[in-house]
Amino acid sequence: MKTKFFLTIAFVLAASTLSAEDARWWKGNLHTHSLWSDGDDYPEMIANWYRSNGYHFLAISDHNVLAEGERWIHREKNAGGQRAFDKYLKHFGDGWVEHKVVKGVPQVRLKTFAEYKAKIAVPGSFLLMQSEELSDQFQGKPIHINVTNIKKQIPPQGGAGVAATMQKNIDAVLAQRKATGQPMFPHINHPNFGWAIQPADMIQLRGEQFFEVYNGHPAVNNYGDKEHLSTGQIWDVINAYRLGVHKLPLLLGLGTDDAHNYHDLAVGQSNTGRGWVMVRAESLTPESIIVAMERGDFYASSGVAVDDIRLAKGKYSFRIQPEKGVTYTTWFIGTRKNFKSNNDLAKRNSLKTAQAGIGEILGQSQLLEPSYTFDGDELYVRAEIMSSKKMTNPYVAGEQERAWLQPVRLGK
Ligand SMILES: [Zn+2]
Ligand SMILES: [Zn+2]
Repeated sequence: MKTKFFLTIAFVLAASTLSAEDARWWKGNLHTHSLWSDGDDYPEMIANWYRSNGYHFLAISDHNVLAEGERWIHREKNAGGQRAFDKYLKHFGDGWVEHKVVKGVPQVRLKTFAEYKAKIAVPGSFLLMQSEELSDQFQGKPIHINVTNIKKQIPPQGGAGVAATMQKNIDAVLAQRKATGQPMFPHINHPNFGWAIQPADMIQLRGEQFFEVYNGHPAVNNYGDKEHLSTGQIWDVINAYRLGVHKLPLLLGLGTDDAHNYHDLAVGQSNTGRGWVMVRAESLTPESIIVAMERGDFYASSGVAVDDIRLAKGKYSFRIQPEKGVTYTTWFIGTRKNFKSNNDLAKRNSLKTAQAGIGEILGQSQLLEPSYTFDGDELYVRAEIMSSKKMTNPYVAGEQERAWLQPVRLGK
């Protein structure tokens, strides 16, 4: 029952106890890769890009590894090659970059999290959090879970099925949080990557509050296909069943880059700047950002910015921050308590979501201050906004800028 109140609490806080001076919006990306795993650039180059491009926080999340210990790699034979090294050396200089030639082999040392954090982070304006993309699989299906603000590396836990594998990894994260006292959270990555995760696999997860509704990597199938639901539709299926059937907390949606390619910017490359979160928090610390996200005080974006999100007296509203010459369409999407639940959850494609009353469009607006008045029988309502403006470097050609606000429900 705890979560029944958390969003209500968030909006009560936003509306009353927090004045504009107490909280503000911070922009961040919680999913990206470096040369520590399969990214093609050095961590401090990546962090510097985010710091220079309007972000306030970043978590570099390499596959099954933390940036720690002494690690030397071949200077040319790596994902970034000589080009990445030349740019790195030019930017940071010989006083910072450690490189040598041993028996004819040119090598460069990857800086640790502690080192690049000390170099790039700026208190109050740019935060770096340690992270890992816990990269597991079940029968070849990729099951990836990010761990934001992790303290100790967690190896993939394995499991007897897709859902069980996710749960075991989530449990390992929660156990570390409990043992260390350090705030951290798991989030499920790209559920449609490899069509690995069915909505049914995520419905009954315990201790998981977040998944990626938008991921900028070109291989992750955000929009589904003829046979598969989009991540937005999956989100509605999950929350309909979590709230309506299992009495579990809402699942919240993140936007991330999942960048791997930092040198060639194009559709088809996995680049920076495509998906992010905006978090309304009191200060730029891991604790403050995590607490705000856990109370639902954030949204996902690929370009559209909003503020003044509020839920009061059955009316849910917010304000779009407009750009000149750009128009915006908002859809209020939700599921009512009387939706048709179906036991055949295991087959994603058997879920005709619209006919079942899941993720219905309950309202639409072209206004800059859209609002939705609850009828009272909604399990939740969420807002999705699409701009008329095209993304400059989209995940797929022709993509328009969007924002995904978190589902909200009436407090009882
Ligand atoms: Zn992944
Ligand atoms: Zn990734």
